[in-house]
Amino acid sequence: MGTLPASAEEAVARLRREVGDIHQELVRYRLVVWTAGNVSARVPGHDLLVIKPSGVPYEELSPRDMIVCDLDGTVVDGELSPSSDTAAHAYVYRHMPHVGGVVHTHSTYASAWAARGEAVPCVLTAMADEFGAEIPVGPFALIGDDSIGRGIVETLSGHRSPAVLMRSHGVFTIGKDARAAVKAAVMCEDVARTVHIARQLGEPRPLAQADVDRLHDRYQNVYGQPGAAR
Ligand SMILES: [Zn+2]
Repeated sequence: MGTLPASAEEAVARLRREVGDIHQELVRYRLVVWTAGNVSARVPGHDLLVIKPSGVPYEELSPRDMIVCDLDGTVVDGELSPSSDTAAHAYVYRHMPHVGGVVHTHSTYASAWAARGEAVPCVLTAMADEFGAEIPVGPFALIGDDSIGRGIVETLSGHRSPAVLMRSHGVFTIGKDARAAVKAAVMCEDVARTVHIARQLGEPRPLAQADVDRLHDRYQNVYGQPGAAR
């Protein structure tokens, strides 16, 4: 185990609380069962991340349980073993410097699209707002090396969507912080569900690309309260 730099202590203490607490949103929005699913956050200004420990029930997660790792996924501070998805999260932070939060879930409807290896088409204005495009499918990759992280980065680099459906697996989302990545995971499941239901009675109508562009631009740049987090 390494040592936590003194200059990171304050941010780490805050992120242990925030990342621990925000796991309750995964439960509240029914994106997870048992202990499957995890949230991490980058420690601003440091090559560190804060992530959930492996296998601890959501209702028992305390700030003290959260694990600090470097961007190679090596534990720097924490008593427990980090999430088994830590290598994927670390890979994303290493290769996407603008990303401050990463979420992984096996939420039902989104994972059903992943099981078919099918992207969720952009057929709703709310989808154009948040995702600006289809929600793409990433490659099939097994846990144990960099391949999940590499698949996430290769699929989302240059893509507007903050969410990727990893083939035959589940959802990874990215955001400027953990909260934004959780929001993308919630929205991903919501639109995956709605488009699935639409499919039952016919073929959803695609949005015109110009409308997708307009909606996405407005939502990303104008929507909400000035200065407020979305
Ligand atoms: Zn998984």
